Amino acid sequence: MVGTAVAPPWPADPVSFADGTCPRCGRQVDPVTLVCDGCRQVAGAPMGVVLGDPGRRLGQYLLDIALCLGTLGIGWFVWSLVTWKSGQTPAMRIMKLRVLHGATSRPARWLRMFVRELVVKMVVVGAVTAASFAAGVLLLDTMLLWDRGRRQVWDEIASTIVVDESGVPAHVLAEAWAPAATAAPVGPPVV
Ligand SMILES: [Zn+2]
Repeated sequence: MVGTAVAPPWPADPVSFADGTCPRCGRQVDPVTLVCDGCRQVAGAPMGVVLGDPGRRLGQYLLDIALCLGTLGIGWFVWSLVTWKSGQTPAMRIMKLRVLHGATSRPARWLRMFVRELVVKMVVVGAVTAASFAAGVLLLDTMLLWDRGRRQVWDEIASTIVVDESGVPAHVLAEAWAPAATAAPVGPPVV
């Protein structure tokens, strides 16, 4: 059944830009280019195989995440072990997307998919997450450098300031900060 409905026979031969023309849309292309600017046909792939657009790829990415969460990761991973052999994630198989190796325009093999999907994504996402977290902490911790009241975010929220009393004798502080003290008279600092 599959494939019999296509007539005339669909050419499976790899498309070539060698003569400087895209055979799919007729546009002039650089013979060494990988993707036609006009119709997004990929050189070296069968006619009609075009570069995946961002919208469908985002949808596929979200579907992979949903499948991963929905199968507690394990189902998605086991499924991936199968689909990676043909250059696809489970969601790519559903949505008819495929990863090609740019140098050959052939489906990426299992090892390249493993590296792409697990190793690189974990490293890159992990690094970006860690860097974002560190930048956030650094920003919060250094806010007092430009705040006039030398307040950190937690000072702002808790309505606090931090003072230095190293120049004040201890007995003065003890009296001043005594819990039972009534409102202290306002005057010049006693050193
Ligand atoms: Zn084209």
